[in-house]
This record gives sequence, structure tokens and C-alpha cells, in this order.
Amino acid sequence: MKFGGTSMAGTERIRRVAGIVKRQQEAGHEVAVVVSAMAGETDRLVTFCREANALYDRAEYDVVVAAGEQVTAGLLALHLQALGCKARSWLGWQLPVRTDDAHAAARIEDIESGALLASMAAGEIAVIPGFQGLDPQARVTTLGRGGSDTSAVAVAAAVHADRCDIYTDVDGVYTTDPRIVAKARKLKYVTYEEMLELASVGSKVLQTRSVSLAMKEGVRVQVLSSFIDESAPPADSIPGTMIVSDEELEGTDMERQLITGIAADKNEAKVTLTRVPDRPGAVAAIFGPLAEANINVDMIIQNIAKDKGETDVTFTCPQADLARTQALIEERKEAIGYYRMIADSKVAKVSVVGVGMRSHAGVASTMFKALADRGINIQAISTSEIKVSVLIDADEVELAVRVLHTAYELDAA
Ligand code: ADP
Ligand code: ASP
Ligand code: MG
Repeated sequence: MKFGGTSMAGTERIRRVAGIVKRQQEAGHEVAVVVSAMAGETDRLVTFCREANALYDRAEYDVVVAAGEQVTAGLLALHLQALGCKARSWLGWQLPVRTDDAHAAARIEDIESGALLASMAAGEIAVIPGFQGLDPQARVTTLGRGGSDTSAVAVAAAVHADRCDIYTDVDGVYTTDPRIVAKARKLKYVTYEEMLELASVGSKVLQTRSVSLAMKEGVRVQVLSSFIDESAPPADSIPGTMIVSDEELEGTDMERQLITGIAADKNEAKVTLTRVPDRPGAVAAIFGPLAEANINVDMIIQNIAKDKGETDVTFTCPQADLARTQALIEERKEAIGYYRMIADSKVAKVSVVGVGMRSHAGVASTMFKALADRGINIQAISTSEIKVSVLIDADEVELAVRVLHTAYELDAA
């Protein structure tokens, strides 16, 4: 069972969570619980790091931000004990959750499950702070924002759990963020592949890596609400959203829609380098150092050279990495040979996702037309087999999502 930040925000809510966990145990299950920091806490800790140094050392950042989850893990164990359950916490370094050394975005390599399984078999509820890991040099790591989802799936895989229930503040995965579009519809099932794509383009209900890990390890994941009344039936019969394989979906009564969902991401920034020499090696000189610094570049646009063998290169990266990106490029101004760097963080990416795109033409043009009809300008476009993304002005993102939700006939009746 995994509980997100809103579900863990304060004594009353943690007490309710303890009640939900206890009921699962009473239903005959052995339970491991993964918890997030209280809502807003990680943001607060990140701000302290930024205030200390805009180009903060990521290893020390991890030491700071991993603290939020330590608090809630201890507190949930205390609340469970108060309800008469046997419970103990297992911090990331105690299990340990082994990761690589990509600080602030570490990848889980392995979770040692021996002691955990023994304790669970003895009737103890295991409470594990999400987000935390330990690198090969025995330094604390964190898994990237939203990483507790990935911790939960990794723990579920390590203990061969029957299911991984992700309890959050909405009761499932919707066609788009139900906080933006009131007419969003809840999906009973969504395939790993579609969920992976939705997550990767900004649908933060699940962290992207949690979905790829679940897909790889065959973990059954359910998304459901923790805001249920305490006498509600156990999770086995709560109608959340199940993440299923393509084959499983075939076996259900679900009608396949052309578009599964729409997602928005306001955390991207756009960087343009003007007058980059149009010669072999120029883009490698830009993106090589960013890759080495673990900065995830998303959209990339290079125009054809107009004159003098020079061209503009535009790309997007996470806003959190913008200062670092600018510094890395600035340092290499001569080697790259660009004229000016222009950064803009007032952008947002809106994406439509659906496996139906594979066999249907016209999905992208519907999107472009719907946005054009509302006067929304597109600054960049990227596509994959089952997704079309556009970059627009951040102020227009909510309108764009609503317009597209209607254009693809996803609105609930
Ligand atoms: P937690 O703290 O439980 O991890 P998050 O805030 O990370 O919760 O994720 C849940 C939020 O994801 C919801 O409150 C909702 O606003 C947002 N969200 C975005 N896209 C979707 C979607 N397609 N379906 C459901 N929720 C979504
Ligand atoms: N607390 C971390 C974050 O806010 C991890 C998580 O909640 O999943 O990103
Ligand atoms: Mg989350």
C-alpha cells in the first residue's frame, strides 16, 4: 500500500491511513506500506536547498529532501502501534534500497527483502519511506519528484506482492487531470503502455518510472482514493483504476477509445540557441554535456540553415534543471559557437495519448485545429507512436486541455 503526500498531511490523516492499513491486515494480508512526505514538505525542503545555492550539490540536496519521508514513516508506525498493530519503520538505507548514484533522480537497482519478509511474516507491518535510496558509496539518494510511487512498486516486486495499491487524493486515473477538467472521466482500466506515456508527459498521478518498473516486473498496480470512509470495504473491492496489460484489457468489456487521455506539464522550460554553426558535431556539443549531467532534454527543434551555414536550435528541459543547463551551455559558448541563449520558463507542454493513434490518421490535425480555433499558438511539436505533444504559453494550458478534451469527445455526459 502506498500513501501520497495529501493522504499523510497531518495527524488526523495519518490516523485515518493507519485505520485503512489495519483493515487490510485484518482481512488476512501481510502488509508493507510506503509513504510520502506530508503534502508541501518536499517543496519546502527544495526551497531551502535553492536558497543555499542555486547550483546546489545534488548529493546534499538528497540528504535534505529525503528527510520528509523519514518523518511520516515514523509517524505512521506510531499511529499503527496506537491502534494495537505491530509495526516498524525501515528507512531506505536500512533495508537497503540500492540505487545508482544519479543524485536527485536515482534509479533503484535492488531492494534487499530478507529482513523485511521475515518481519512481515511475524505479523509486523513494514512502514517504508518512499523516495529514498542508498548509492554504491553508501550516500543517501532520492528517486526524483513523485518517486514514492516507484519505491512502492519496487517494494511490491521485491516481496512478490499480490498487488500494489497506490492510494492518493483522487479515486483513480482519469482521462485528464480531474482538477482541471470537471468533465474528466474515470478509467476502469488503463494499459501499462498508455499509463507510461501519460505519466511521461506530465500526468503526475503516477511517476513514470513506477509504471515502467511495474510493466517490467509484472506488478499489478491499482490507483485508488485514500479519502474513503474508514468502514469502507477493503481495497480488493474498491473500484479504483487497474493498470493492465494489453492482453488483460482484451478480456474486459472496455471499448477501446482512440484517445485515452490528455496530460499537461508546466514544469518544462524552453531554451533557444541562436546562430549555431550548421556542421557535424554542433548539436553533440550542446547535448553531450547535458546528458552527462543527467539533464533530461525532451523536445528538440533544429531549423534548416538559412544563410551563412547557421541555424537556431530550440529544446526543452525540466524547469528545475534550467539554471544548471544554462550554466553548462554558457561554459561551452566557444566550443558550441552559438550567438545568444534565450530561456523561457513560461511554457507548458500539452499531450494527447492513445494506442488508437497507431491505426488512425488525423489525430494530430484535430489537435492543431482545435487549438487554432481558440487562438492558441504552438511553439514546438513532438510525436511518438501513441502521443502528440505541443509546447504552448503556460497561461493557456488549462484552456488547451479543456478544448482538447472536448475535441476528442472525452467529456463525461
Ligand atoms: P500523491 O501525493 O498521492 O502522490 P499526486 O499529487 O502526486 O498525489 O498525484 C495525484 C494528482 O494527480 C491528482 O490530485 C490530480 O490532480 C493529478 N492528476 C493529473 N493527471 C491525472 C489523471 N489523468 N488522473 C488522475 N489524476 C491526475
Ligand atoms: N515527497 C516526494 C515528492 O514530493 C516524493 C513523493 O511524494 O512521491 O516528490
Ligand atoms: Mg505523487
